[in-house]
Amino acid sequence: MKKVHIKSFGCQMNVYDGQRMADILGEQGFEETPTPEGADLILLNTCHIRDRAVQKVYTELGKLRDIKTAQKAQGQDTRIVVAGCVAQAEGAEIQRRQPAVDLVVGPQAYHRLPELLEQAQRRRTVDTDLPIDDKFGHLPAPKPAAIRARGISAFVTVQEGCDKFCAFCVVPYTRGAEFSRPVAQIMAEIERLAASGVQDVTLIGQNVNAYHGEGSDGRAWGLARSMHRVAEVQGIHRIRYSTSHPNDMDDDLIAAHRDLPQVMPFLHLPVQAGSDRILSAMNRKHTADEYRRLIERVRQARPDIALSSDFIVGFPGESDADFEETIRLVDEIGFASSYSFKYSPRPGTPAADLREQVPLGVMDERLQRLQARIEHHRQAFNHAMVGRTVEVLLERAGRHPRQLAGKTPYLQAVQIETETNQIGDRVQVVIERAGSNSLFGRKAGEPDTPSQNPAMLDPAARDPANKDLAA
Ligand code: SAM
Ligand code: SF4
Repeated sequence: MKKVHIKSFGCQMNVYDGQRMADILGEQGFEETPTPEGADLILLNTCHIRDRAVQKVYTELGKLRDIKTAQKAQGQDTRIVVAGCVAQAEGAEIQRRQPAVDLVVGPQAYHRLPELLEQAQRRRTVDTDLPIDDKFGHLPAPKPAAIRARGISAFVTVQEGCDKFCAFCVVPYTRGAEFSRPVAQIMAEIERLAASGVQDVTLIGQNVNAYHGEGSDGRAWGLARSMHRVAEVQGIHRIRYSTSHPNDMDDDLIAAHRDLPQVMPFLHLPVQAGSDRILSAMNRKHTADEYRRLIERVRQARPDIALSSDFIVGFPGESDADFEETIRLVDEIGFASSYSFKYSPRPGTPAADLREQVPLGVMDERLQRLQARIEHHRQAFNHAMVGRTVEVLLERAGRHPRQLAGKTPYLQAVQIETETNQIGDRVQVVIERAGSNSLFGRKAGEPDTPSQNPAMLDPAARDPANKDLAA
């Protein structure tokens, strides 16, 4: 069999797209290999969201060129494909900067991979067509063995593209206009996943709560209504969705957190900044207080909900006072976790042309302060779990014998010691300890005598390099 190595950068949607490309290539006789060495085809699935992500791609391409040259000397032909958002944004420029690249394919054109690869054998090829000619309708369904190999949690793209045009963001240009898959198509995919053991699905989209796909009655269904259908699928015990925009959190979606036990008490709802002046300059179209009120409504529906957000520091014109508003918001809401980034000017976006860019040193300082507050709240959230009993869905082997690792409904990683359970079990776990990246617990109903597993007794001593366990 021919070998393909696929490396995805960036967001969950790239992980999903990478899997779908593996499914297409599987039908062409390729099997996946974990390293680029020895591969006949190397595919980089790229991210354009910040400049650093783009630079990583070019660094990686330099290494791949060397592998391609070395393999050629051994008589093996290697083809290099660049897919994803850098492909969309930079097109032929990629091959100008790195001539070893054979094919550039954008995120809306990858269903054409087989014919494009064929064409690329004759000449270097670029396909960055944006209109979605129902890409999803052309993708082969994953085989049961591939689904099982990917584990019991799966991403499912339900919506793609964005019409919001936040002033800093490239997504509307790289992924195109908002598009929602029909409900029937999504249901067929989820039923297939469930039939092969998937229990936990995350419905993904750049702006997933703007979802408005065609339902069984021919009308547009919102995300909440579609989730009611997903909740009926036998075997699907956990449903999440990401990423949402505050302005698209409608009453039905909030109510779904109250009414559907399968919808997990976790919500990633990026706010980006706490200052109204900056939110307006970002074209976010809501104020910080509107966000606060929205969070109150969500908490009324689901009091234990864990919240997370994205933040950008150093958006052009952000003053010290503006930044303090972000810190205030973070402290008021008490997010369970969050991502935070330094503003990165993106070519073609309105914010890139703004004067008053914030100096790098100031951005660094602000990011450090913000991350310290985010970490403080994350630790507080995790420590508050100690002594509580929560359901953990076991997803993979732990790092030590007899350990299994899983997630709480609040998306926290948990390690337990068990000899009787297996991956896929949902167990009630008493949380005993919060490490820096994982919680540790024992199965409810089991005695809380000291563990006989040395890894659980003195993790740091046994494995000092293990950040999770060394906490
Ligand atoms: N659609 C989502 C939303 O509305 O929040 C997120 C999309 S984006 C893939 C993920 C995050 O990257 C954003 O929430 C934002 O915090 C960050 N981001 C986007 N553009 C950025 C830029 N130019 N510089 C720094 N961070 C950026
Ligand atoms: Fe980008 Fe999200 Fe804004 Fe859309 S809503 S432009 S994806 S940050």
